[in-house]
Amino acid sequence: MTLVHNWHLGRTMEYPYFESRPEHQFAAVFNTNRCIACQTCTMAHKSTWTYSKGQEYMWWNNVETKPYGGYPQHWDHKILQLLWDNGNNPMEWYTSAEDKDETKAPYGLYNGDTIFELAKTKGLNQVAVGYIPDDKEWRFPNIYEDTAASEKTNYETGAAAESSELPEHKRWFFYLQRICNHCTYPACLSACPRKAIYKRKEDGIVLIDQKRCRGYRKCVEQCPYKKPMYRGETRMSEKCIGCYPRVEGKDPITKGRRMEARCMAACVGKIRLNGLLTGDYKKPDPKNPMDWLIHIHKVALPLYPQFGTEPNIYYIPPRWAPRSYLRQMFGPGVDEALDKYAAPSRTLMAVLQLFRTTQTMLSRFEIEDGEKIYESEIMGKKVEVYNDTVIGFASDGTEMVRVKVEEPTWESDEKRMITY
Ligand code: SF4
Ligand code: SF4
Repeated sequence: MTLVHNWHLGRTMEYPYFESRPEHQFAAVFNTNRCIACQTCTMAHKSTWTYSKGQEYMWWNNVETKPYGGYPQHWDHKILQLLWDNGNNPMEWYTSAEDKDETKAPYGLYNGDTIFELAKTKGLNQVAVGYIPDDKEWRFPNIYEDTAASEKTNYETGAAAESSELPEHKRWFFYLQRICNHCTYPACLSACPRKAIYKRKEDGIVLIDQKRCRGYRKCVEQCPYKKPMYRGETRMSEKCIGCYPRVEGKDPITKGRRMEARCMAACVGKIRLNGLLTGDYKKPDPKNPMDWLIHIHKVALPLYPQFGTEPNIYYIPPRWAPRSYLRQMFGPGVDEALDKYAAPSRTLMAVLQLFRTTQTMLSRFEIEDGEKIYESEIMGKKVEVYNDTVIGFASDGTEMVRVKVEEPTWESDEKRMITY
């Protein structure tokens, strides 16, 4: 094991390979507040990559209803339980000012064991703790759809009388969208004894080499997010490939420019923005929309940072869910992120308009000022909305999108209206 810096945890941690960050990192921001659980992303990926024999149970992209849903069933409860029962200081964060650092420890310091450290604490002969879901656990990918958590049942309250009001709904659920996180410290990669899993230098995408894989399933066991899946037909494991041919610009639609992954481009609720982070987290680029949302504004947070893999899919947490649950899921940055999202800054309001306006990956944005269109007070904070124009550019500098904050409306010419 060596010591590497994990900025999600705000500290160094044990990992079997030296720290080696890619030049750029495949990343995405998912705004959970907007997801309608239509599963269009799920079918976009399914119809592209996992429609063949032996892949029937494979859903590289899935959307699950939290807190009860999960694919495979109870995946996160099981990993959390492992850490909770056996780890040192499980789920303990230090978040006072001296434990924070703008870039190296923005959320504070995680004091608990990661999945790697727990394996060492327990003296296991493996890199990380984990488990292989049994075949039955891969069934029912949408189990507990729309099942709400509640302090009281309908029977006790008389129908749905329990209140659901901000800031925390008493009866609640939300949708969690998941793909492979293309982690900075992938547990799948470090678990593979044949070194068949590698992380690409140019974009940080994590791939299983199908020529080298022998189906040992150590990746299935040790990925805490349960994203590598075994294919009985080929006797090898497979996982989300970040749609790398699109990211490389191989799809003719974007004329050689980097293109967002299938699941991202298909998103109906406009919750997803996919792009590349600049490789150095210590020097984020304020004009790169990914860097700005994740590193600079800190409105989007990693999923279960305490696992220790430094995942690269980031979430704007749902406004209505209980904060304690959200802190366990997205770390202690939740309160700050929610405050920022509830009363959005002028820049955030503009950047959110970029979501799902183009399939081309945007690497830079600019904002042109517009007039004030709205003013209000949200949670004691003054909010002013300006009809600014946000412009998105591809990495070659080409302007790809230009969109205003206020949705334009047109009135139909009466003569053109179809009347019956
Ligand atoms: S989410 Fe799992 S499969 Fe994906 S890179 Fe991380 S550890 Fe590997
Ligand atoms: S396509 Fe978008 S809105 Fe629909 S389920 Fe997927 S992430 Fe949610």
